[in-house]
Amino acid sequence: MEKPEVEEGAPALAGGTDDARPPASSGAADDPRPPALASTADDVLRQAPAATSAAVRKCMQGNKRRDTTPELKVRALLRELGYPGYRLDWKKAPGHPDIAYPGRKIAIFVMGCFWHRCPVCDLPQPKSNVAYWQAKFDRNVERDARTRRALEEAGWKVVYIWEHELKKSHLEATRRKLHEAVRRP
Ligand SMILES: [Zn+2]
Repeated sequence: MEKPEVEEGAPALAGGTDDARPPASSGAADDPRPPALASTADDVLRQAPAATSAAVRKCMQGNKRRDTTPELKVRALLRELGYPGYRLDWKKAPGHPDIAYPGRKIAIFVMGCFWHRCPVCDLPQPKSNVAYWQAKFDRNVERDARTRRALEEAGWKVVYIWEHELKKSHLEATRRKLHEAVRRP
């Protein structure tokens, strides 16, 4: 998801896990900001001196982030499985799939369990600014559903890989799931 390019395998910038982890809730009553947005990678990136070109800046300010650790793991699995020909953040399809095989219309989304409200993990929501977070999560879930529908209506196969599916204990199952999804008949 959108971030400056980092090399495959390079240690992820702060953004590597921020999509995945619940932001620490500040809890400070006198802080009018939404909780914990101050320390996200986005802010770090906005201040980063590297944000010189308009393209990079636009990329940094996008909602989506690229090259998160979970995405790198999925891409590594796909290469191991022998399907290296994927495209990233494919803009010609609804929802800009994180990983896509446009010719075969396979869209893979790497989903943060917190932000996308993984039904398996069902992670607790922040205790403060409840309405703010609820609205944000609702929007994310609605957008995900809309994107999925639009892709499927356009003939795409949609695959979600949840972040928890990339834990060591799940990795074999996830490898099989991916193989099932991408293998040629
Ligand atoms: Zn999960």
